[in-house]
Amino acid sequence: MTAETAEGRAENWEGSRVGILGGTFDPPHVGHVRMAVAARDALGLDRVFFSPAPRPPHKGGAEASPYAHRVAMVEAAIAGEEHLAVTRIEEAHDTSYTVLLLRACRERTSADLYFIMGADSLAELASWRDPEEVMRLATLVVFPRGRGVVRAPAAREASLVVFEAPVIDVSSTAIRSRLERGETGADGLAPAVERYLAQHRLYPRA
Ligand code: ATP
Repeated sequence: MTAETAEGRAENWEGSRVGILGGTFDPPHVGHVRMAVAARDALGLDRVFFSPAPRPPHKGGAEASPYAHRVAMVEAAIAGEEHLAVTRIEEAHDTSYTVLLLRACRERTSADLYFIMGADSLAELASWRDPEEVMRLATLVVFPRGRGVVRAPAAREASLVVFEAPVIDVSSTAIRSRLERGETGADGLAPAVERYLAQHRLYPRA
């Protein structure tokens, strides 16, 4: 099914196995892209959608960069990756709850949904809104991050795929810190995202 966003942009939701990678993407980095590609290859996903959260919870007290910039950076980060796409499905959501994201996906497709995340996100799952419904709506696909052990959720409904190898030790926070210190050529960024940042100077945030 092809669905239109509020601005009339077409999004292709065809396929029987669809991955979703929700995040702040401030900025998107190679870890995000590697996770999406690894999940696609291992699970035979037709497509993986990156869904930037329009109003993510404040991390460390700072507002996230504007949504339009984060969407544009994701587009730059995944350019040329045939099976990766960005969705603006959450644009209308006041709060970025995964359960609302997955319900909105379900309205657009009857495909099996795979929600991709890092182990740090899984560790917070119990505090999410309606975690049981999240686990009914999607298979959780988890990548290890740092040294933490991936602990499976207790719920019976959980269907879980856990990758053994971490993708790459990189985070948006670390990249922002390096850029704020004036370092250029930040490791972990796609060249197109680096160029976007050089042009728009998003960090330090206004
Ligand atoms: P921040 O440093 O601001 O927390 P982040 O690097 O975690 O940002 P997000 O956009 O918040 O980036 O991440 C989206 C999802 O991708 C989350 O589920 C997060 O756990 C996961 N993720 C991001 N980077 C990695 C990584 N290097 N390895 C595994 N998972 C990752």
